[in-house]
Amino acid sequence: MLRYRPCTLELRHAFGVASNTRTATPAVLVEVERDGLTGHGEASLPPYLGETAGSVCGFLARVDLARFPDWTRLDEILPALDALAPGHTAAKAAVDLALHDWLGRRQGAPLHRFWGLDPAKAPPTSFTIGLDTPEVVRMKVREAAPYPLLKAKLGRDNDREMIEVIRAETGRPLVVDANQGWTDRDAAARMAEWLAARNVRLIEQPFPRDRPADTAWLRARSPLPLFADESVQRLADVSSAAGVFDGINIKLMKCTGLAEARRMIARARELGLKVMLGCMTETSCAVTAAAQLAPLADWADLDGALLIRNDPFEGMQVVDGRIVLPDRPGIGIVART
Ligand code: MG
Repeated sequence: MLRYRPCTLELRHAFGVASNTRTATPAVLVEVERDGLTGHGEASLPPYLGETAGSVCGFLARVDLARFPDWTRLDEILPALDALAPGHTAAKAAVDLALHDWLGRRQGAPLHRFWGLDPAKAPPTSFTIGLDTPEVVRMKVREAAPYPLLKAKLGRDNDREMIEVIRAETGRPLVVDANQGWTDRDAAARMAEWLAARNVRLIEQPFPRDRPADTAWLRARSPLPLFADESVQRLADVSSAAGVFDGINIKLMKCTGLAEARRMIARARELGLKVMLGCMTETSCAVTAAAQLAPLADWADLDGALLIRNDPFEGMQVVDGRIVLPDRPGIGIVART
């Protein structure tokens, strides 16, 4: 049985990135049930992926899990799901997550143990500071005091001011995400130098996704590694990042879920690319699912559930910036009461 319901996730603070600012974000919560076990999944819906609660529900209405007699055979079910229609990556991820959760519960083991991973190897997660006025940015940086690594959203016309406001509050290491917002490559090269002198550790998606030549040009000059986010969505995109970026940001909602994310990590390693595990603004369901893979990553940006105030689940914790995975089967979430 497959059930789903749309919900609205309310943000603790209005969240700005290069292209927009929002105060709430939609999601669709999914459950699969068989043999008395329920698996949970989620489609989170950032505007740039183009999916809506309506499109997710429309896709899920076409999914018939009853025709698969053995739900342990994800190698059969997930490709069939993917073949139903192009796109719909978040809707597909919701089913992938729910089936993985169900499978883990059936095995009585957290997914990381099922995969033979050591949760102590997960990198610390960054905490994201969205674009905002200097006063609000200052307040957000103070609130982020427990996090040893911050991520700043850049890509508007006040990038230096944003960094200076943060640096007036803290010297902690930063990663920055331009969200495709840079356009001039000489300015980008100067910016990379300037950021490197301010304890910034990497730059995510400096240019629009259709500008790999400019990205490769910048990579040859930047003292900081460049990571792809919008440029790399699925497994088929990973090889295009080699020689252009130093690493890729893998997100479950972009890539259809845990099964493909694991293949992307393996492919990135073959190509010598670093791996960041990222998330959307989403509940503890999807964030904790991604965290199950964190022992395989170099960087983690898994703060999505910390940004919302009506998280229906309890899952991964962040303690002094460290990811602490619950010792519960499957994804490891329970409903918040
Ligand atoms: Mg990003």
